This record gives sequence, structure tokens and C-alpha cells, in this order.
Amino acid sequence: MKIETLAIKSTQMHDENTGAVSTPIYLSTTFERDSDGTYPSGYVYSRMNNPNRELLEKSLAALENGTDGLAFASGMAATTALLHCFKTGDHILTPDDAYFATNALIEEVFTPWGLEFTKVNMADLAEIKQAIRPNTKMIWVETPSNPLLKLSDIQAIAELSHTVGAICAVDNTWGTPLLQRPLDFGADVVMHSTTKYLSGHSDVLGGALILKENEPLVTKLRSIQKYTGGVPSPFDCWLVARGIRTLSVRVREQTKNAHALAEFLEKHPKIEKVHYPGLPSHSQFDIAKKQMTGGFGGMLSVQVVGDAQNAMNLTGKLQLFTTATSLGGVESLIEHRKSIEGPTSPTPDNLLRVSVGLENIEDLIQDWVEALG
Ligand SMILES: *Cc1c(COP(=O)(O)O)cnc(C)c1O
Repeated sequence: MKIETLAIKSTQMHDENTGAVSTPIYLSTTFERDSDGTYPSGYVYSRMNNPNRELLEKSLAALENGTDGLAFASGMAATTALLHCFKTGDHILTPDDAYFATNALIEEVFTPWGLEFTKVNMADLAEIKQAIRPNTKMIWVETPSNPLLKLSDIQAIAELSHTVGAICAVDNTWGTPLLQRPLDFGADVVMHSTTKYLSGHSDVLGGALILKENEPLVTKLRSIQKYTGGVPSPFDCWLVARGIRTLSVRVREQTKNAHALAEFLEKHPKIEKVHYPGLPSHSQFDIAKKQMTGGFGGMLSVQVVGDAQNAMNLTGKLQLFTTATSLGGVESLIEHRKSIEGPTSPTPDNLLRVSVGLENIEDLIQDWVEALG
């Protein structure tokens, strides 16, 4: 089955009691046990599993062409669960431009905990190779990256990981399973912030890990999920599953809009540079074509001619782009990244990150025409 069909079929539960077509929400935290000690429904207690979470996890596994999915209360809870699989003295490579909170988690929580990290330019295979140590256990990839939309060659990095006995995990939040499926390129784990494109409406936090035929790691992660308890509520699971039902139409349209906006802005004299993997001017356009098989996504960033103030002023002039953090919702958002990330951030002063929504593209372009003046 193709992903559009999977997205619908995998999120629909057959409810024998009522025949409900939309999946019911099972709020019960506990489930009946028989006098012989068994649980006829297969469910025991909601932290361990519940019908809405199970449906979502199976759906996520299907979309990413994996065999096992694990849902969490946020993207950060999913990343934390994966990092809990390692022990003191294990070494992990991460991108020098990883998602802001991923980096903070590494520095403020897991480095004091005893894991070792080296930040590398994940777009540079030679630099990655050089940073590998005998105790390297994982390479963490985020592609396209935030906010410069740098790409990492998933296949090459996964192969390299395996030659040194490490696993390769990919944060596929920006790619989405519609556009890019890392497990097909040899990655071992896919991570998602389902807060973004998968749920798609800026109204629920969620995270996920997806694996393919990796029983030992899945078993370990199931224990961590169950006993650390960073799990999503049944209603959260329902909202993410409901978002998945329209993933393909949303992301395809957002990709079309972002591509058109990127092409328009690239030619504008008041824009210094556009970062979008679908532009032939992107220095890694070849990698984009190889692994973003479904399109180049709804995210782009631009460097405005001038300084930080010029860029900030522009966000005030745009009427159709709400100034707010986050991404992947149906509404267009814009954000000055440097002022969020702080003075030590390597992000250029004049950079704005744009999450393109489902508004009409002619309106979106006209908004920029007027704001740029
Ligand atoms: C938002 C995001 C996260 C963190 O997810 P939360 O759901 O906010 O915890 C991780 N990686 C990327 C790329 C993100 O955009």
C-alpha cells in the first residue's frame, strides 16, 4: 500500500461495539482482568499500553516502513528515551546545528549523567569519520537541519555507523515520512516530534521512535517507555492519529507553497540568501534529490539584506505569517532564530525561519512583496 492509503487505514480502528467510523477515545487507565489472572483485552494499565496509543504506534511504524513504533509525550521525551539506552562512557556524535532543545538536553542533562558527545558538521562525511572513537555508539542525524537546512547523507552515515558498531538515528521531524524515509536508507531509529507535521495543527505535543526488526533495542525502549512514563495521553494519541489522516495532502501542498516562495524570494533584491533544499542553488541539491524522494518540505529560511533589526522589522510587516516559534501547522509562521537561540548561537543575525502553511500561495507571495516594499 502507498503512504496515502496507509495514513487512512492505519489510523482507523474497527470498533465492534458501535461500528464507529472515527476512532473512539479510550480514557480508561485500567482494564479488566479475568479470574484466571489473564487480561482478555490485552491491556492492563494505560502507562503500559492503551488502544489509542497502540493504534498510533502501529500507524507510525507503517508510515516509516518500520516494524515497531513507540509514542511519547513530546519529541524531547522520545529523544530522552533513546539516550537512556546508553551507559556512562558511551560516546555519541551529534550535529553542530542540532535542534536547540536537543542540544540543551545533551549539555545540561546527559553530559553530567556521564554520556560523552562530540558535535560535528553532519554535512561533512570526513569530519564525521574523524570524530569516531572506539566507544562511539550512536550517530544522531537531523536532516534537513535547523535553521540553515543543511543536509546529511543518511545512507552514507548509516553505513559508516555500522562499520564501527554504532547505530544511526535520524530526527525526521522536518522531512516527514511522506518526503523522506530514513529506515529505507539504512538508519536504525527514526525520531519524530509529532507536535509538528504529523499532528499538523499546532494543538498537541507528541514524540515518537520508529525501528525496523531490531528486537533487542525495541525491548529496551519499551521498558524505558513503560517505567520512565513519558507517555502521551489517549486524547493526545487521538489528535496525532487524526492529523496523520491528512498528512499527505497537507505536506504536499505546504511543500508546493514553500518551493514557490523560495523561488520567488531567491530572485528578490532585498533577500541576500534563501536556504531551501529544493533549489538547485542549494550546495547539497544532489543529496536532497537522492533522499527527499517525496519533495523538499515546507520549511525554508532566508537571510534578509541588512542586519538583525532589518530582519526583525520584516516579521512585523508580514500580515499572513504569524511571528511564533514551532512549525508544521496549517498556518504560516515566521521567526527570528538568533534572538531565540541567544548570543552564542552561530545562526546569522539576519536570518528568518519560515514554516509555510496552507494559505493560497499568491496571497503569501503578495504579503512578501508588500512587506519588502
Ligand atoms: C520540535 C522539534 C523537536 C522537539 O520536539 P517537542 O515535541 O517540542 O518536544 C525535536 N526536533 C526537531 C527537529 C523539532 O522541530
